[in-house]
Amino acid sequence: RSAMIACQIGQCAKTFHDICSYESHYHSAHSNRCASCSKVLPTSRLLEIHVLENHDSMFPLLAEKQNMYQCLVATCSHLFPNPENRKEHLIKVHRYPASFRFERSRKKCANLPGKTCNVSTGFFFFPGEVKRIKV
Ligand SMILES: [Zn+2]
Ligand SMILES: [Zn+2]
Ligand SMILES: [Zn+2]
Repeated sequence: RSAMIACQIGQCAKTFHDICSYESHYHSAHSNRCASCSKVLPTSRLLEIHVLENHDSMFPLLAEKQNMYQCLVATCSHLFPNPENRKEHLIKVHRYPASFRFERSRKKCANLPGKTCNVSTGFFFFPGEVKRIKV
């Protein structure tokens, strides 16, 4: 394996040989953890959107009447009636991969058998923030 993972959050340019190393760096350096449910989001903007959509009691009421789901791209002001429409938009307009997921899911780390760490497939594909590079 020659692929490396480059952290590109802010001015950070650290590189890692496996996802687990990157994960532990990410958690200590860039964690955006939800205070209500402990989910970790890749950026502070996504954390804000997560809190609004999941923990704001007014959100479901407002979302019934108007488009309330914001595009995840900070420079885009599109609003959508539901997350499915937003996902379609992200894939079509912003070229997010179809496997993209807003939130991270827990699964076993493939690189270090027996060790469990938080790995999500979609997480590493946020354009401009984190990407895989070939060495
Ligand atoms: Zn970093
Ligand atoms: Zn939460
Ligand atoms: Zn957009």
